[in-house]
Amino acid sequence: MTDVLIVGAGIAGSAAAIGLARQGRNVVLLVRSVFPREKACGEGLMPAGVAALARLGVEIAGTPFRGVRYHHEGRTIEGAFPQQHQGLGIRRWYLDAALLEAALREPNVQVLTGLSAEAPLFKDNRIVGVRAGGQEYRADLTVAADGANSMLRHKLGWDASKRTRRHAVLQHYRLTKAAPEWVEVHLSQGQETYVTPLPGNELLVASLGDSPQTPAEFAHLERIGAPLGAAPLSVRATQRFAPGCVLLGDAAGNCDPITGGGMSQALLSAELLAEHADSLEAFDRVREAMLANYRRLTAGVLTLANHPSLLRPALSILSHAPGLFSRLLGVAGGTV
Ligand SMILES: Cc1cc2nc3c(=O)[nH]c(=O)nc-3n(C[C@H](O)[C@H](O)[C@H](O)COP(=O)(O)OP(=O)(O)OC[C@H]3O[C@@H](n4cnc5c(N)ncnc54)[C@H](O)[C@@H]3O)c2cc1C
Repeated sequence: MTDVLIVGAGIAGSAAAIGLARQGRNVVLLVRSVFPREKACGEGLMPAGVAALARLGVEIAGTPFRGVRYHHEGRTIEGAFPQQHQGLGIRRWYLDAALLEAALREPNVQVLTGLSAEAPLFKDNRIVGVRAGGQEYRADLTVAADGANSMLRHKLGWDASKRTRRHAVLQHYRLTKAAPEWVEVHLSQGQETYVTPLPGNELLVASLGDSPQTPAEFAHLERIGAPLGAAPLSVRATQRFAPGCVLLGDAAGNCDPITGGGMSQALLSAELLAEHADSLEAFDRVREAMLANYRRLTAGVLTLANHPSLLRPALSILSHAPGLFSRLLGVAGGTV
């Protein structure tokens, strides 16, 4: 019996393994994929996430970006992070592998690879681990960090039913010149396209909507790898913890990536769990408080994206109030 069993070695799972191990807990991390691996993501890490990575001591090559620029019907509005802050365009291929390697370096972390959790284990109404690969893995605390389509959330009956048609298509490209210093967001009828600068003169183009398509303007660029897809873009859980078990990262419910903070929220939530692992109730309370403004902002931006008639006046107001726009960006980026 170990102290903590973590299911899923994405950002939340590996970061939690590191944090909990540094608090003196013995951790077993169940890893399904062979790393490095792709993960469909906009790959723009907001300043709060950059700071959280630094606190973990994980160094990763990234392309700094100064903020986010929105383009709509020929108008551009620019939101810069405060001067001492920057975002980083980071390939998930490297980031997730670097976090897992950092977890492997922790003496208290045991990594079991090639194992997909199949079902939770119960004893006296308490969740006491999972079954994976035909074996039972038991722990005082089971952390389900198995992503937006969490198997554990589903098997525990904690899926909220709301599903939207929104999904994403993503493609990496190679540039012949240096990548821009901004994340560029192009808003058009029915979809948003995010362009994130990446190391090695690469770009990630992510299009989100009900039937998104990569815009033709990128067709002349050299493609890197196959296109990726992602759905659903937002999920909610009816319950996030119970005796012996807690959902973490996207598994606990995620916001639509329109505001681009999911990786940062996963890192910050993992940090909070390491601090509050003795009381899941306290952990969940501080996590919910941390996420509240971010969720409100995301809901607002999503409403605008879904109602183009509101978008034009909203962008007009924001272009005349750069302070307000920077503040909203700060909520998404974790600088406010
Ligand atoms: C289209 C799109 C664009 C996005 N853009 C951005 C962005 O620009 N910036 C940003 O910050 N965030 C962005 N996000 C959000 C971000 O990708 C997620 O919030 C983040 O990856 C959550 O990390 P996680 O560790 O919770 O989940 P994941 O990264 O999904 O990791 C879950 C892990 O669990 C493993 N797993 C799953 N099931 C099992 C099982 N049964 N047993 C064992 N392991 C299992 C998986 O293999 C995976 O490694 C975007 C998301 C999408 C979909």
